[in-house]
Amino acid sequence: MKLPPLDPTDPAGLDDLLTEDEKEIRSAVRQVLDASVEPYIAEWFEQGSIPDIRSLTRELGSLGVLGMHLEGYGCAGMSATEYGVACLEIEATDSGLRSLVSVQGSLAMFAIWRWGSEEQKQQWLPGMAAGELIGCFGLTEPDAGSDPSSLTTRARRDGSDWILDGRKLWISNAPFADVAVVWAQTDEGIRGFIVPADTPGFSAPEIKHKLSLRASATGELVLDGVRLPDSAVFPEVRGLKGPLACLNEARFGIVWGALGAARSSLEVARTYAKDRVQFGKPIAAFQLTQQKLVNMSLEYTKGYLLALHLGRRKDAGKLRPEQVSLGKLNNVREALEICRTARTILGANGISLEYPVIRHQNNLESVLTYEGTVEMHTLVLGQVLTGESAFR
Ligand code: FAD
Repeated sequence: MKLPPLDPTDPAGLDDLLTEDEKEIRSAVRQVLDASVEPYIAEWFEQGSIPDIRSLTRELGSLGVLGMHLEGYGCAGMSATEYGVACLEIEATDSGLRSLVSVQGSLAMFAIWRWGSEEQKQQWLPGMAAGELIGCFGLTEPDAGSDPSSLTTRARRDGSDWILDGRKLWISNAPFADVAVVWAQTDEGIRGFIVPADTPGFSAPEIKHKLSLRASATGELVLDGVRLPDSAVFPEVRGLKGPLACLNEARFGIVWGALGAARSSLEVARTYAKDRVQFGKPIAAFQLTQQKLVNMSLEYTKGYLLALHLGRRKDAGKLRPEQVSLGKLNNVREALEICRTARTILGANGISLEYPVIRHQNNLESVLTYEGTVEMHTLVLGQVLTGESAFR
């Protein structure tokens, strides 16, 4: 039997592992992003903002990617693997855009979907799934990053109301969010609150001067005597398991998403190397360049297999948080290495926004840090391997 020619963008033939539905989602997402985002994304990154975030969010809502893996309340009810495939495609355009989708669907919406009352779900989820309402998720504080158990934002009861005071930092989507999920200390441990952005005492100033995720708005949350009714608190959940369950969902999307930034950079570098001539030959004809491309392709292939394996486990209800740590740690670290190597292949052009590589590389510096730093996920896995906790 004559085998078809090898696809240089998929030498291992990974495409065989996807279902027809998964491939359809991939092309539907690609089509929308190619038309609505790709032509403008470098400019948005350069200017540090997305000019019409509302219509973009509504478009993502119509595409069904907001809260894509959640059931009911206007959400698409797709599988975890389908969600992963979409995240890869979105981050191949820009990690900032994937952050918007992750924070909306896996952090803010998932928190309400998993921990909210029926009334809270009915009130918020359909509008968020449609992209009419934008959400953010406030856990990190100026003095509580990797160790969220030390957070000091405080919620106290006042009659049947709650009063919230404190400050959150580095919150994606915050400057334009309609609603914030805020985690605060109470007399009963950490609890989650749904804070409409127009509540008196609440503000979300933007953090400026970022050199990473520039096509994503990041802000503070300032809570100054914010009064909320009892209907704003998640009724049951207490303690860190509330926010950690949400982070686990978002991290799963990152396991896939980071590969998108890697794929884009690898493809640009491969094509560039075939065109760029030095010493009378395309630089692709030099062994050192080939070794770089081969190593990038190998790491991408291994990362993809890992993401797919974790996706299938999640769909089977067997995925453990430690396994998500394994995927997040490996895939973001290797994706960043792929982008850095691609950058070298492009030479001076590698630092220009005319090509996506430096943008992806800079973006991944944030992705390496948020949703648990490399060090935190290393400690999670270190504990799995040794039985010893080295966090403190
Ligand atoms: P720190 O915790 O101060 O850590 C600094 C360094 O010390 C890191 O390298 C860390 O790994 C290391 N370190 C800390 N403890 C240990 C230890 N025990 N052993 C070894 N090393 C250690 N947060 C939200 O709540 N919501 C969001 O939407 C959100 N969006 C973000 C968007 C961006 C662009 C960025 C950059 C961050 C965002 N974050 C968000 C915050 C992010 O989750 C935190 O930055 C992250 O948890 C790390 O916290 P930190 O920056 O305070 O670093």
